[in-house]
Amino acid sequence: MKIIIIGGGPCGLGAAWRLTELGHENWLLFEKKDYWGGLSASFQDSEGFWWDVGGHVLFSHYTYFDQVMDSLLGKEDGWVFHEREAWIRMQDRFIPYPLQNNIRHLPKEIYWECLEGMIDIWENRQKKAPAHFGEWIDATFGKGLARWFLRPYNYKVWAYPPEQLDWSWVGDRVAPTDIRRVLKNAVFQKDEISWGPNAMFRFPLHRGTGNIWRTLSQRLPQEKIHLNKELAAISADNRHVSFTDGTSEEYDVLLTTIPLTEIIRNSEPEFPLSHFPISNLRHSSTHVVGLGLKGNPPDYLATKCWIYFPEDNCPFYRVTVFSNYSPNNVPDIKNQWSIMCEVSESTVKKVERDQIESDVIDGALNTGLLSSRNQVTHTWHHFVEKGYPTPSLERNPLLFRVLKYLEEKGIYSRGRFGGWRYEVGNMDHSFMQGVEFINRVLASAEELTLWYPQIVNSDHPSGGKR
Ligand SMILES: Cc1cc2nc3c(=O)[nH]c(=O)nc-3n(C[C@H](O)[C@H](O)[C@H](O)COP(=O)(O)OP(=O)(O)OC[C@H]3O[C@@H](n4cnc5c(N)ncnc54)[C@H](O)[C@@H]3O)c2cc1C
Repeated sequence: MKIIIIGGGPCGLGAAWRLTELGHENWLLFEKKDYWGGLSASFQDSEGFWWDVGGHVLFSHYTYFDQVMDSLLGKEDGWVFHEREAWIRMQDRFIPYPLQNNIRHLPKEIYWECLEGMIDIWENRQKKAPAHFGEWIDATFGKGLARWFLRPYNYKVWAYPPEQLDWSWVGDRVAPTDIRRVLKNAVFQKDEISWGPNAMFRFPLHRGTGNIWRTLSQRLPQEKIHLNKELAAISADNRHVSFTDGTSEEYDVLLTTIPLTEIIRNSEPEFPLSHFPISNLRHSSTHVVGLGLKGNPPDYLATKCWIYFPEDNCPFYRVTVFSNYSPNNVPDIKNQWSIMCEVSESTVKKVERDQIESDVIDGALNTGLLSSRNQVTHTWHHFVEKGYPTPSLERNPLLFRVLKYLEEKGIYSRGRFGGWRYEVGNMDHSFMQGVEFINRVLASAEELTLWYPQIVNSDHPSGGKR
């Protein structure tokens, strides 16, 4: 059986890793860029600073994934271990995330508005399912938290109004409200930051997140993996793919990890677009603006991992204090530091692209991240057209129809944009989608991640990971 893999991000590399592990020899992998890792790659700028494509945190829901990570960079030596410190910047102050467990830090009027909203939902338990993410927010958090944090923040991240989003993706991604806990923290003046899965995480000591995927690529049979090879067209009827350099390959099974919408476009006229309104599969774009800084971070940023920004005094929704992740992310940690700011864009949320770097610096000054423009030695701007697969209201019925149709033609689309499911779109999920696909093809195993996000994202009954 000849297996062709398109895309050298975590999903394609996961499939290649598993094929190698199982000793299946008849496969090839093609990546259009001149580097491995896709959205999880890292880049070194001309000043020697390292950057990821936005703050990449190695969360894991799988024992297998952890073992592969250990085997790539070592159990300890190749990593920096962090206790997750996520914060929110609003009302001119830093508040530990999740906000609902720490609302005592808010100004009194807003504090009360948030509490009252929670009491309202407690008293008027909603029985019907929410129609959209906006209703889910209101019904889960109450009007106060929705107004001051969840609605504005989610618009900034998703770049679509919550009314246009589904809520079924939420899973373990959003901390729920627990009024008993909220009140207890308020009465005992307690901060709570270790919410949810992965309160600890690790980050590569050298060369950013991309080092994981670069190292993994080096462990694969080099004659089977090819950079600078861009898929141009798929002929499903002839089981044949062609590349922009004029070459082609036949296959028995095709695993593609490129955006699903591009497979359909590449396969015209075999997959008539009129059958699939693929413009309903929406996405948002991501601008990553890195600020190279001189000096040292102020004390209030010295241990923070990342910070959420719901207000309109800055264009970014999230900032990672990237030099805190590894001292090697900057050339001279004694005299330099760095922050990485993420700004979303979509057809409904426009960004002034040519002034984004100065808007980000203004935002960093407005929000107290920087005290002076002179701290900035240089900037790094990276734009990805497809950053987040949007869980829009129209997505599920269309997505499952398209995936099924492709499977009938012997084409298997997986990964962050191949599966278009944000809820299983992180590195561990994407890698495991590749692994599980190979397990299915070679050993008839079930693919859990793509089809059952709620299972892989929940705790294993044994209390451990899957
Ligand atoms: C801003 C941001 C923050 C993130 N933060 C985190 C985080 O904190 N933790 C986490 O785990 N994950 C995070 N992620 C998600 C992570 O980047 C993805 O899970 C992962 O990269 C997806 O892997 P993939 O292989 O499915 O897709 P991709 O990484 O997109 O790889 C697809 C590959 O296909 C290639 N390709 C495309 N078209 C063609 C073609 N025609 N021919 C050949 N090759 C092609 C691309 O060049 C790419 O290399 C984040 C993503 C973003 C955008």
